[in-house]
Amino acid sequence: MIKRKPASEPYTLEWLMRWTIPEPNSGCWLWTGTLNPGGYGCVGFQGKTKGAHRVAYMLANGSISAGMDLDHLCRVRCYVNPGHLEAVTRSVNLRRGEAGQNLVSKALAKTHCQPATLTKATTYMSISAAVERASRAKDRTCANGAPVIATSPAKA
Ligand SMILES: [Zn+2]
Repeated sequence: MIKRKPASEPYTLEWLMRWTIPEPNSGCWLWTGTLNPGGYGCVGFQGKTKGAHRVAYMLANGSISAGMDLDHLCRVRCYVNPGHLEAVTRSVNLRRGEAGQNLVSKALAKTHCQPATLTKATTYMSISAAVERASRAKDRTCANGAPVIATSPAKA
């Protein structure tokens, strides 16, 4: 069900926050209402279904400049903390999204060994733990001697 406001109540950030829970690591607000197929929160606002993050930004800042996208600075679409949203042009938003994707694919590439050398331990490690372990490895080889596929320069 799309969350809607009773007509007697004004639109406020407190109203919207009723359907969020704080995410302690990032300080963000996780949307607990309906998500659209793209993973963004949806909420009823002024008779229409709107992005919950866009409504949060409007309630906090008054408006969104015409034609601007809101960039999720913490890169999670279902987060709605207006303090983590920045109004940017579509091209800036797309460029930032691609840059974020590149970071993830580099981190994955850096920690993946030749296919035959993947172990249960490395497969289940978090990306950050795997990146840290890979960057600590002096000889840049896996436990069984296979070379790590590195996409970033080895440390001197
Ligand atoms: Zn955030």
